[in-house]
Amino acid sequence: MPGICVVATVPDAAAIPSSLELVGGARALDASHGAGVSAVLMGTGPGLREATDELHRHGVATVYRCAHPLLTSGQVDAFLLATEQVLRAATPQVVLIRADTVGRELAPRLAVRLGAALVTECVELAAENGAIVARRQTYGGRALATLVVTRRPAVLSVKPHSLEVPEPAPVPGRVEDVAVSIDADTLPARVCEVLREEAEVGLDDAQVVVSGGRGVGGPEGFALLKELAAVLGGAVGASRPPADEGWVPISWQIGQTGKTVRPALYIAVAISGATQHVAGMSGSRTIVAINRDPNAPIFSVAHLGIVGDYRAIVPPLVARIKELKGP
Ligand SMILES: Cc1cc2nc3c(=O)[nH]c(=O)nc-3n(C[C@H](O)[C@H](O)[C@H](O)COP(=O)(O)OP(=O)(O)OC[C@H]3O[C@@H](n4cnc5c(N)ncnc54)[C@H](O)[C@@H]3O)c2cc1C
Repeated sequence: MPGICVVATVPDAAAIPSSLELVGGARALDASHGAGVSAVLMGTGPGLREATDELHRHGVATVYRCAHPLLTSGQVDAFLLATEQVLRAATPQVVLIRADTVGRELAPRLAVRLGAALVTECVELAAENGAIVARRQTYGGRALATLVVTRRPAVLSVKPHSLEVPEPAPVPGRVEDVAVSIDADTLPARVCEVLREEAEVGLDDAQVVVSGGRGVGGPEGFALLKELAAVLGGAVGASRPPADEGWVPISWQIGQTGKTVRPALYIAVAISGATQHVAGMSGSRTIVAINRDPNAPIFSVAHLGIVGDYRAIVPPLVARIKELKGP
């Protein structure tokens, strides 16, 4: 019986690195019993072959490949049918799913259909004495709950960017092309159009994120942050208040109820550093905070802090970066 199976999709390029994060988690769980890591790979188009190679290169022995035109962005019902069909035949002990918009819906529905245990929104995974130890945030992000999962099969959804993409560990690899039957007329819901917000293109995988908080004061303040992000080749994010106020799209929100990011550089502008925000950015390699309050909690997670009014700090910073970059 195969051990750990990751659910991977290729509706767009951003999905591949995130699926590899799951492979890192699967390899860690598999290390103790060595039953092997497999993947259900769903999507359409030439990206499927490239994704298959990437999965093998990162240690996935068997790829169950499902190619179907309905396996595209947002079609949860189609992903559910395909995943269930493969997993009923493959019978893995543990299934890992990315807790993104599709995965948040897919994981519980799949667990019910497979009669599996379910843990959602995991941020850490480990194997201890034959059990899976999963950690997830609780009490509004103020604490981490540790859950010991003893029942099998188990479905675990993992917050994007919580786990590292592992180093390559190539295996010869095997591909099973699975002919999934999905009848468009029987799907309870169909996605007719996908509208993408500007920042969704880059925020998930940006190496630089410039994030603004309530202290930015309104949409015009975010125009300044966009300039800073543009000169650094990064994306703009936000804490919850600017998203709640409608200053920025809700998809820009970073934190416990928003996105988790792990860029090389995270610049927090006029953000106080509440635990619910820090939960979504503390994995960033270098954190710079700009805040006029020297006692703001964000300075306790920042590697570099600048105390002052962002309106006096950001424009000269943009000018200096432009100067250093040259014409
Ligand atoms: C269940 C739950 C889930 C939540 N999920 C999230 C989440 O996902 N993400 C999230 O961010 N929050 C989340 N929150 C809200 C969170 O608790 C905080 O309220 C929020 O993060 C505060 O946002 P902020 O730092 O932008 O605003 P504030 O806490 O109001 O801080 C504004 C900061 O701006 C500074 N400032 C003001 N003017 C300037 C200036 N001109 N120049 C420089 N600095 C200035 C101030 O000194 C202050 O530190 C959640 C809350 C709950 C209860």
